[in-house]
Amino acid sequence: MTTIDYRDFYIDGDWHAPGGSDTLSVTSPTTEERIGSVPVSTRADIDAAVAAARRTFDDPTGWSTWHPKQRAEVLERFAVELESRAEETARRVSLQNGMPIWLANQFEGGFPAVLLRYFSSLMVDAPTVDERAGMLGGTARVTRRPVGVVGAVVPWNVPQAITFLKLAPALAAGCTVVLKPAEETVLDAFLMAEAAHAAGLPAGVLNVVPGGREIGAYLVEHPGVDKVSFTGSTAAGRSIAETCGRLLRPVTLELGGKSAAILLDDVDLDGSLESLFGVTFLNNGQICWLNTRVLAPRSRYGEVVDTLTDLARSLPIGDPLNPETKIGPMVSARQRERVEGYIATGKSEGGRVTTGGGRPAGLDRGFFVEPTVFADVDNTATISREEIFGPVLSVIPFSDEAEALAIANDSEYGLGGSVWSSDIERAATLAAQVKSGTVGVNHYSNDPVAPFGGIKSSGMGRELGPEGLHAFQHLHTVYLPPAP
Ligand code: NAD
Repeated sequence: MTTIDYRDFYIDGDWHAPGGSDTLSVTSPTTEERIGSVPVSTRADIDAAVAAARRTFDDPTGWSTWHPKQRAEVLERFAVELESRAEETARRVSLQNGMPIWLANQFEGGFPAVLLRYFSSLMVDAPTVDERAGMLGGTARVTRRPVGVVGAVVPWNVPQAITFLKLAPALAAGCTVVLKPAEETVLDAFLMAEAAHAAGLPAGVLNVVPGGREIGAYLVEHPGVDKVSFTGSTAAGRSIAETCGRLLRPVTLELGGKSAAILLDDVDLDGSLESLFGVTFLNNGQICWLNTRVLAPRSRYGEVVDTLTDLARSLPIGDPLNPETKIGPMVSARQRERVEGYIATGKSEGGRVTTGGGRPAGLDRGFFVEPTVFADVDNTATISREEIFGPVLSVIPFSDEAEALAIANDSEYGLGGSVWSSDIERAATLAAQVKSGTVGVNHYSNDPVAPFGGIKSSGMGRELGPEGLHAFQHLHTVYLPPAP
């Protein structure tokens, strides 16, 4: 297979030779072979990227001062360029992180252009100036302004969609961005930079600087950055929050999760199989909002365990580029080790594996783990409390709705969740009491119009919806005097 190798970075509207000589090699989690490489940013490269973003943002006639319609025209061209590369984007993501290709086509190929258009239209339609008749006689003129240079740090699990949760509102608002992709998924980020270049984004508006944690940390605390937007683990989020706290720098944090699906006693299990798959094993269990705790009524506990067991067994495992594949590999050997460690802990604490628990037969290459269901576990088990980030479910029994709610809310995290019932209003009433940022009824999907994000250790701030745009704006008030 031909490898995808880049020698230069996209900084200040062009491709530039790196300051250092280190390269970052990307390995396929399916074949364990090298699939490409990019240069690693040095601190000097980050300095150059931030300086370009700063210069462009501060230009008195530049991007940040344009009418939203003018930016929307450029972002529409960006969307079109992304669409023309959608298939290759999806293929690269799937090659790098093992995301099944049917899902990569939707999330990674399709969603970025949708988000660019959504946030552009929000900016064009929303008034940026709000004149309020004051209580003290005058008028308050309140304006929304772009927050400045954004340092965006993203993970590998859904790299393009997560990138555009930040890029689309930031660019629409008039910010400039320095993006640090995860080390595992850089080849899609470079393709995205090619699309930006072809679309004619002004120099400095978007800069892409690959590297590891240290480079991410350097970007986060860079004096030229005005706002940080981070998606990743809770541990890294805490460290970034500490830095931003010290610097009094605004930060949005989308972190880990351990969400619960509450199946009520009138749930239609057979009719919900596809949606249940969508909230449990999607993307090989590597999505932050997945419902890895399934809460089942005691009256139907055996039936729920059997249904999930059959579901897990039915999922085709293998090459993520095969459109039939539902479960691909874990992103890396390290991630597989972590998931296998949790499976061992689950067993040692008395959980009963009803299916999975090992590596799939017949796949002697790649970081595969079987979809695994644990029965006879409660909410105190390690596997019910910690984020595993793999295809491993805990099925936990409850006696009544109050107990189900108490179990769902007994978590360090609060990101997603779902309630399942034949009675939508009954489910919605319970959903309203789940302590998390988002909850689905009989399904779960991150609709662009609604704010997405977490509480507790799942983070702070919101992405998507008008709130996701406001995260890249600050408010400016002019007090006009009373009329003479
Ligand atoms: P990670 O935190 O290790 O890395 C994420 C990104 O942050 C990478 O680009 C990494 O290089 C960088 N990074 C790590 N430490 C840093 C630091 N101290 N300063 C600056 N940058 C740093 O996470 P991961 O293992 O790559 O991703 C999986 C995690 O992300 C899971 O915990 C998952 O729940 C979370 N996640 C959350 C959401 C959400 O929207 N809430 C979405 C996807 C993933």
